[in-house]
Amino acid sequence: MNTIINSDINLAVELLKAGEVVALPTETVYGLAGNALDPAAITKIFAAKKRPQDNPLIIHVTGIEMVRELGLEIPDLAERLAESFWAGALTIIFKKTKTSVVPMEVSRGLDSVAVRVPDNSFFLETIRKCGFPLAAPSANLSGSPSPTRPKHVYADLNGRIPLIIDGGHCRIGIESTVIIIKNNQVKILRPGAITPEMLSEFAHVTVDDGINDVHQKLSNDISPSPGTKYKHYSPKAKVYAVIAENEKAFTKLVKGEQFVISRPAMQTLFARLRRFDQQNADKIYIRLPKREGIGFALYNRIIRAAEFNIIRADNIGTNNE
Ligand code: AMP
Ligand code: MG
Repeated sequence: MNTIINSDINLAVELLKAGEVVALPTETVYGLAGNALDPAAITKIFAAKKRPQDNPLIIHVTGIEMVRELGLEIPDLAERLAESFWAGALTIIFKKTKTSVVPMEVSRGLDSVAVRVPDNSFFLETIRKCGFPLAAPSANLSGSPSPTRPKHVYADLNGRIPLIIDGGHCRIGIESTVIIIKNNQVKILRPGAITPEMLSEFAHVTVDDGINDVHQKLSNDISPSPGTKYKHYSPKAKVYAVIAENEKAFTKLVKGEQFVISRPAMQTLFARLRRFDQQNADKIYIRLPKREGIGFALYNRIIRAAEFNIIRADNIGTNNE
């Protein structure tokens, strides 16, 4: 299969209607989209990106009415959050009703479904023209850094999918915030550009233990969000996440090293990891940001790219045994 890159939305719609999968830009990262109501299309998504079978997909819709049409329970709080943050980088987990039309292939056996409205006109236009919601995980090979540019998708999926829609660089650059609502409270399962601070204007917010605990190993993750347990966002190089009190301590630690990210930023983190891989880096050092505000999501992606391999610039020890 020859993978085409262009901005031909009509071709994307034609392929999606025929049960194919297509890479589409979103404001977070590129997504690999397929008809969320068609089990065969969903199976193609899992195959193309070699996604672990127990990792459920996010369904992309144009608005809350479409969530209702999927047969999902919508608590008042979810409706208010959707009003404020959609279209945007907030994924909400909804419980299925008995009459839900979401296939098991999307939710992988769970009784809930993750949904969001992407803030990208190509993507929204495609959903509208298709007339059905689109399931879409990140358009990379599972485990590698998420794609934020068409060439990243091409590097991973060339020959495995028919079309990549070119929407340029992704504005945000890391995946959406994933939340679950229980008893009128918000629990964050994956941090993203919508911060705990922003959500706490609406409800009490907690953070899932799996996100915070740097001692927790990937293999025995107890997170209720299956995807968070896998090796993730990882380049081929060994990544060291560095805690440094100040710039000076960091600079001293990485002296002589070639592959260093001293000021990580959401929009460029994944692209830089991919570039370092191309340059055959064997070790990459990244300074961890403070775990607050937007830094929380960045911190989370970095410690996962580093597979929890965290070192301190003052050399007091490591958190990795
Ligand atoms: P990705 O689409 O690759 O950005 O990953 C989607 C994320 O949403 C993964 O971490 C999934 O585990 C999570 N997710 C999807 N559906 C559910 C669900 N029903 N319950 C909990 N987490 C979910
Ligand atoms: Mg992903």
